[in-house]
Amino acid sequence: MKVAVAKETAPGERRVALVPEAVVKLRAAGLEVLVETGAGDGAWLSDDAFTEAGATIVARDEMRAAADMIVMVGRPDDAAMAALRPGQAILGMLAPLADPAFARRLAETGVTAISLDLIPRTLPRAQPMDALTSQANIAGYKAAVVAAAAFGRFFPLLITAAGTARPAKVLVLGTGVAGLQAIGTARRLGAIVSAYDVRPETKTEVASLGATFIELTSVGAASGEGGYARALTEEERQAQQDELAGHIAKHDVVITTAQVPGRRPPLLVTADALKEMAAGSVLVDMGASALGGNVEGSRPGETVVTENGVTIIGAGNLASTMPAAASAMYARNVSSLLLYLVQDGSLSVDLADDLQRGVVITHEGQVVHPALAQSAGGTGRVDGASH
Ligand code: NAD
Repeated sequence: MKVAVAKETAPGERRVALVPEAVVKLRAAGLEVLVETGAGDGAWLSDDAFTEAGATIVARDEMRAAADMIVMVGRPDDAAMAALRPGQAILGMLAPLADPAFARRLAETGVTAISLDLIPRTLPRAQPMDALTSQANIAGYKAAVVAAAAFGRFFPLLITAAGTARPAKVLVLGTGVAGLQAIGTARRLGAIVSAYDVRPETKTEVASLGATFIELTSVGAASGEGGYARALTEEERQAQQDELAGHIAKHDVVITTAQVPGRRPPLLVTADALKEMAAGSVLVDMGASALGGNVEGSRPGETVVTENGVTIIGAGNLASTMPAAASAMYARNVSSLLLYLVQDGSLSVDLADDLQRGVVITHEGQVVHPALAQSAGGTGRVDGASH
């Protein structure tokens, strides 16, 4: 079986789906590895490094024509979609749930599409394949570093002959994977850290990192299914924003990471709350998206300074800004899943297996993922028979 590594084409994407170390592992398992010319450039991984690991460097067209399986970080672009052929497989963070039309397009190409972001995260054997976690860890770390770099003062307490600097007060909103890593990093930089989440079960994790968990009196627990949060009601949302505003005003730095599956990120920091913050405060919004983020007025990939001197950094693809670390971890996730899916040298799709049922989106011309098949209005067939 020929596994091919595509060079990413999304603007600003510097990660690569496999690193040489992972190539060695796949080769040992009997797989042939092709790497598109320059695929590792953004992560400082040369073609030579891949060749030394046993891969063959090929041009894009040749890679697409020869591959049995193409591994990638993000989605295939239009040109890559057009080049797919029936029976081929692709594997990447395809994010199909919010975009059923994309899944139907994939089914029409006849490819077996496997989406790493749908790994059933609670299955113990899926832990090494959990790319959402690996990339969120990196993004959470980087969010704290970005905040520290933008803040005009120190994070740690500093006592010098020229004066004493008080430690920064950092507030982390949302304490999932990224939030916990942001807390740990801000703590290591010496900040005093507080944190809040609608899932009270995260309280002990927050405390174990040396941060103070803030409990709101006006909003109760909002734990949803599978370890995620549920969306708040309109009244809860309002109460949360109002009560949080008082806490936000007392902090120098706020890092927001709140997400609810399948929804736009909840707004936690309103324009009114921003007005109460001191000049020089910094916010890093990891929820920033085209639909709006956790912070009012944040824009992905952009930095905005309010009239009262508050800097709002709309985090873009933070994991991609650490391409070497992110690619190494992602490659571990990809190779673990690949080795799980391959039997006797070829891809073996078994939708009776709960892990596979979680990640396989399309197979043999059909949308087969249970969540997507539902939104397709029936069995998920793309021939319209079930619509
Ligand atoms: P996520 O990115 O979906 O959300 C980030 C955080 O935002 C969550 O903690 C969520 O509770 C919080 N949030 C949502 N709405 C909010 C609001 N209005 N106000 C405040 N906070 C809000 O979450 P994630 O980081 O992907 O992790 C979600 C869960 O999955 C966690 O419980 C994590 O421990 C769990 N997980 C488990 C495993 C495993 O079992 N091995 C692996 C990975 C993640």
